[in-house]
Amino acid sequence: MIVTRFAPSPNGSLHLGHAFSAITAHDLAQRHGGRFLLRVEDIDGARSRPELAAEFRADLAWLGLQWDEVPPQSSRTASYLAAAGRLREMGLLYPCRCSRAEVAAAAQSHGPEGPVYPRTCRHAAIEPGTPVAWRIDMEAALAHTGPLFWEDERAGRQQARPDLAGDVILLRKDADTPASYHLAATLDDAADGVTLVTRGMDLFGATHIHRLLQELLGLPVPRWHHHPLLLDAEGRKLAKRRGSPSLAERRRAGEDGRALAAALRAGILPAGIVLGEGLHSEP
Ligand code: GLU
Repeated sequence: MIVTRFAPSPNGSLHLGHAFSAITAHDLAQRHGGRFLLRVEDIDGARSRPELAAEFRADLAWLGLQWDEVPPQSSRTASYLAAAGRLREMGLLYPCRCSRAEVAAAAQSHGPEGPVYPRTCRHAAIEPGTPVAWRIDMEAALAHTGPLFWEDERAGRQQARPDLAGDVILLRKDADTPASYHLAATLDDAADGVTLVTRGMDLFGATHIHRLLQELLGLPVPRWHHHPLLLDAEGRKLAKRRGSPSLAERRRAGEDGRALAAALRAGILPAGIVLGEGLHSEP
């Protein structure tokens, strides 16, 4: 059975782009008699606003979607720590005390996930008690798995290139956010039985890392469907600060959510908004 999901982070209200994403995942499941899941990705404790989960449900219902909700990330910390523990025992994680600014200043190259970590802490002696993040040793991890591939329904078969992102963080330094998005989302998709990971092209680069984590942790391998993004005329993601109203604002203003969903399904977009495959970088 096909299982898809919509996994919004409750850091801000949903926008038209989220509506398109949720409808895409919903319809792919429905077309094949499958299940569509809602998972609230509240891993970022400092930025999460718990009240937004109720707003998200109201938005999805307004669009005319039906879903099954699975537990939010905040209730799954133990599974993230257990998986990281296994990777550590395999010798694939190392502690890193560098700040974001230090990494940005020291990085020699840029990858799909931002500055590539120059492995400053790989062999550094770190004083006990120093707050650390845990990074994956990408070279060692890939030596362990060998070449990996994944299937995207739109882009076709891909060779996983997690090496391009470098030694990404899996456990954060920040106590409010125990795990990184990569570790949490990969484990959650497996735990929730997701068979078709449906999300925007902005997360295409992340999939290379997720495929590696699945292999290392012995998780089932889903298929992916990375859908195009709703962009403004400058090729940027829609945002409230650039005048794109949230779904909640549209709903409260009395707009018909089912009609909006029907328009999005038919590819009818508001003036000035286009579907694109990739993001232009932010100014
Ligand atoms: N929580 C992520 C976001 O809101 C989506 C993650 C995913 O679909 O894998 O951007």
